[in-house]
Amino acid sequence: MKKFVLFIGGILVVFSIYGCGKSSSVGPDPKPDRDPPVLTPSDELEFKVLVYVDKASVEAHLGGSERIVSSKMNELFKKVTSYWNESSKGKLKKKYRYTFTDMKIYEGSSQSATLRKVIYNDPVDFSKYDVTVFFDGIQDNGETGNGGAAHSGGTDNRSVVTVFANATEKKDIFNDNTFRTLTHELGHYRGVTDLYQYIIAANDNQVSHQKFDPPVCIMNDAASGLWSDYAAACINRAGSAKQIGKEFLDFFGSMYPKNIEINVTVSGTAKRGLDVKIYGSRAGASGRNRDIYPTAFLSGQTDIDGKFIMRDTKNLFIPDKGKFPNIPEDLPYGRWFGLLVEVSSGTTKKYAWLPEYEVQMPFFEGKDTYTANIAF
Ligand SMILES: [Zn+2]
Repeated sequence: MKKFVLFIGGILVVFSIYGCGKSSSVGPDPKPDRDPPVLTPSDELEFKVLVYVDKASVEAHLGGSERIVSSKMNELFKKVTSYWNESSKGKLKKKYRYTFTDMKIYEGSSQSATLRKVIYNDPVDFSKYDVTVFFDGIQDNGETGNGGAAHSGGTDNRSVVTVFANATEKKDIFNDNTFRTLTHELGHYRGVTDLYQYIIAANDNQVSHQKFDPPVCIMNDAASGLWSDYAAACINRAGSAKQIGKEFLDFFGSMYPKNIEINVTVSGTAKRGLDVKIYGSRAGASGRNRDIYPTAFLSGQTDIDGKFIMRDTKNLFIPDKGKFPNIPEDLPYGRWFGLLVEVSSGTTKKYAWLPEYEVQMPFFEGKDTYTANIAF
């Protein structure tokens, strides 16, 4: 908001200077009037990428020399840029550019504490680089793990994306679909959460026995070629912020609505006194799939208007164990990813699924209440 105000201020200053110049141009040889300068905010946001890559991969399967690998990195981030923008389908307010800016080649293990301190904690020149991408194309030097890609933070709200080889094959980042993986991870850099965390199989839902599928989105499946409405709204909100954690206080947590309102009708009429139970969905953990935790942590009845209203919803999704019964010890990330609402009318039960990515949508419309309807 501050930036926006400054920008408006900038326009006013420019116009007022122009106005002054015009009224005082009384010299003998006045210059012809020119059109006032057209000031539009840039329609493209650029993010500069600092790359770390292992020497063994540079010298072997990635190209053989620093010069060749640099040139391919440049192409890789152009592909990321194209894929990112093509997946907008008109939803993103700006065009995006991820510019390969610099490459640092490291020797030895990508798990070395010394290297990690440099990448995650030592001072970084934010005037040159906005985001770091850390590649390890070969598992060598005693490295372990399953490979894959991730996004995480470091000192000063910096973002670091990792793309690592697994134990059995080299990571061929210029020829496989790494540009899609990078687009997904950079989605995290722009503040979007993983949408595949909301997938629940029918077998893992002992309450309503329904399966839940999040929308098509790069944050659900990197190959999908589409930003969902939710992801686009988050990306638009992050805007030009280079380090989201610096410019926003609790970017994700601030998007929960104040209230959730469930409206229950029976044969078209609002119905009072129906039993309502609220269950939570959990992220997966070792030995357990993502699931609906089978014991309700909140219950009540519809009011005289057929409504069941939940307030302070951030504290429902991130529940305080002391305030609610039946919050399991095993609750990864300390939060429910979605709420499953069960309403009973006689022997019939009906359900509404309230995942965070839907519950947070009213935030983008300037509303403070998420509404769901259940009709018997
Ligand atoms: Zn992810």
